[in-house]
Amino acid sequence: MPPRTALITGAASGLGLAIAEAMAEAGYRLLLADLEQSDGAAVARRLDASFIAADLARADDCQRLCDRALEASGRVDILVNNAGLQRVSPIEDFADEDWERLIAVMLTAPFRLTRSLWPAMKASGWGRIINMASIHALVASPHKAAYVAAKHGLLGLTRTAALEGGEHGITVNAICPAYVRTPLVENQIADQARVHGLAEDEVVEKIMLAPAAVKRLIEPAEVAQLALFLCSDAAASISGAALPVDGGWTAR
Ligand code: NAD
Repeated sequence: MPPRTALITGAASGLGLAIAEAMAEAGYRLLLADLEQSDGAAVARRLDASFIAADLARADDCQRLCDRALEASGRVDILVNNAGLQRVSPIEDFADEDWERLIAVMLTAPFRLTRSLWPAMKASGWGRIINMASIHALVASPHKAAYVAAKHGLLGLTRTAALEGGEHGITVNAICPAYVRTPLVENQIADQARVHGLAEDEVVEKIMLAPAAVKRLIEPAEVAQLALFLCSDAAASISGAALPVDGGWTAR
């Protein structure tokens, strides 16, 4: 059988990059998408993958991405909706444009990509959709109104698509990590320090790791291994799940 083809969004950095590396090593054919053209293209060259630049906040880019992905490979077996961003601000100061961009990239784009790639997955009788949600799909934290709302919504999309996909061999799951060592988290430390009135070095210990049993940041490769497993035939009965990789955060 030819290798399966996976489209990974937000593959230029962090978790998307780690998933792309793990999947390249496992022999998948990869189509990588990101807003960051030069980083994305460099990753694609290194992993012998194709790169498609896209701003997933835009409907036309989402459509173009899916059209090009289907043209390039005939089919997309696996969709990893991973691209994301964060804004940390109290509700009263939360700007409309930040709200709209977070919802567009992390909730509306996964819906649009799922909708566009669904008919081909359905026709082939096999598909895997992995939505990179967050622990913030399950619990909230202050000052992250748009992020928490987008991720809770993404879990709703995951469950609905899982119910529709079951009879067609399509599984749809959400991975829910707590704080992973990526640029998204590194960039957030200064913002969190400002809104909580803490020094930056106190943020990791007092805010990020406070609810967790395992007191360290998660490594991107740990999450990538779970994504890889979800793509396998061994995971065919896991669907509609919200899988925490959270160091025990939600155990309490
Ligand atoms: P990151 O900032 O390292 O990578 C995010 C990638 O998404 C970047 O390459 C960025 O260019 C891309 N992106 C952002 N906006 C885009 C857009 N409009 N169009 C296309 N690409 C866009 O962050 P990360 O930590 O790797 O986050 C990846 C995903 O994991 C996000 O959905 C995030 O919410 C989720 N997540 C991260 C953590 C964490 O602690 N790092 C925890 C839980 C969930």
